Amino acid sequence: MPYHSVVCVKQVPDTANITAEAMKDDGTVNRAALPAIFNPEDLHALEAALDVRERFGGTVTALTMGPPKAADVLRECLFRGADRAILLTDRRAAASDTLATSYILAQAIKTIAKKFGEVDFVFCGRQAIDGDTAQVGPQCAEKLGIPQITYMEELIRLNGRTVVVRRNVGNGWEIVETTLPALITVIDTANRPRPSAARKVMLFKRARVRDEVLGDVKRLLPDASEEDRRAEAERRMADLQQRGLLLDQWNLDDIGAEIDRCGLSGSPTKVYRIQSIVLTKSGYKEIAPTEEGVRNLIHELIVDHTLG
Ligand SMILES: Cc1cc2nc3c(=O)[nH]c(=O)nc-3n(C[C@H](O)[C@H](O)[C@H](O)COP(=O)(O)OP(=O)(O)OC[C@H]3O[C@@H](n4cnc5c(N)ncnc54)[C@H](O)[C@@H]3O)c2cc1C
Repeated sequence: MPYHSVVCVKQVPDTANITAEAMKDDGTVNRAALPAIFNPEDLHALEAALDVRERFGGTVTALTMGPPKAADVLRECLFRGADRAILLTDRRAAASDTLATSYILAQAIKTIAKKFGEVDFVFCGRQAIDGDTAQVGPQCAEKLGIPQITYMEELIRLNGRTVVVRRNVGNGWEIVETTLPALITVIDTANRPRPSAARKVMLFKRARVRDEVLGDVKRLLPDASEEDRRAEAERRMADLQQRGLLLDQWNLDDIGAEIDRCGLSGSPTKVYRIQSIVLTKSGYKEIAPTEEGVRNLIHELIVDHTLG
């Protein structure tokens, strides 16, 4: 039985390479100063979806919300085997917190179902390395009104409309069964993401979304009139479309989103203060792995108000 999987992938700043320029004065992240990468756990979500397609048949649609530059992660999905890739980009979606992000993604997934056929699985990474909340997948499932299984480590069985999954709950495992459609968040021990296929890299490296084409034309024809630029962009897009290389680009209107549920107006999270913690102590103290050692440690932590 073929299954249609949607994989939510996010382009994130590489938080492993933080420099002094990483934060702006107002405490927000200076994304331009950090290299942008594929959110690591989303590669495992993609692999889970590709694995379902390989074992049972079907299609894999990659979805990201972000600026036009986020099309990089969509191309990466195509290099690794996704069948279709969609960019959701809209200035009105900027500054979305998890509530707004999950609403927008849920609307996009409903639109995917309408345009390309019912969705059986939504795969997400467990969490993104920039926001780190792990809320988007579960909130998205709530908004779609479908069951969710978080922390998937193994898809044990898929039989018709029933899926059985092993989830890692930290100090043990749970075997969970649910019916499809379902949303599953995937952890990094679930699988080994396959590398890009050279043939697909050659095929899809020129794939573009509309805004990238407009940007390319503006850069290449800086002195051309608006009309000439538009004509050149249309010509390029028609050419890409014909070769199957024009990626879908949607805005909030395309997915029927209520604008006041998106972006800043749809985001109740307010960051009041950001504190930079610098650890200055160079030494360390060894605690004996005994009842008494732990008791002494807790006593010290209470005395210096770290605990309590
Ligand atoms: C330092 C920092 C702190 C933040 N704190 C908060 C906070 O406390 N509360 C809050 O509501 N928001 C917060 N945000 C905003 C948060 O980054 C955004 O809401 C973000 O778009 C989604 O949350 P997340 O990164 O935590 O995703 P997670 O919930 O960790 O992501 C889980 C999965 O959802 C999918 N996903 C997430 N975003 C996208 C996307 N744009 N496109 C496609 N798939 C996606 C991916 O599969 C991802 O692996 C914070 C951001 C930063 C940089």
